[in-house]
Amino acid sequence: MANYTTFEAGSWNDLGQHIFKLGDLKGQGKLFLGDLLKTTGCEISMNRIEAGKSYLFHHKHRQQEEIYIVVSGRGEFQIDGEIFPVQEGSVVNIRPAGVRTYRASSEESLCYLCIQATENSLTSHTIGDGEIVPGKVEWPAQRID
Ligand code: ZN
Repeated sequence: MANYTTFEAGSWNDLGQHIFKLGDLKGQGKLFLGDLLKTTGCEISMNRIEAGKSYLFHHKHRQQEEIYIVVSGRGEFQIDGEIFPVQEGSVVNIRPAGVRTYRASSEESLCYLCIQATENSLTSHTIGDGEIVPGKVEWPAQRID
């Protein structure tokens, strides 16, 4: 068995092709990758909220913190009643009890990754778990132009 799994989700602009039916999210882009990538320590989703659209419900979690990484567009997050703007490069960690909802700006869709992991489950940070594998790095001739 290979030590990796890949999946081609396509363009963020076409994320709506992956329909996740939950409340009024039908037709908007939300793609859970955990099953597709066979992850075992976290769930991750690719999300796109159309310009001018909003989630129509709040939610929270029992055990999972959620890390949001905005990759494009602009919008607002509302957490425990506090509203703040987000844009490309915004990174937000919401602890499980945080009551949350989000919306895109009126002019730009909001695209973000959401990583769910069990709160307090991380056993080491940054590169603490990595180790250098001996050997020279070699690549075949360039394959992508
Ligand atoms: Zn959530």
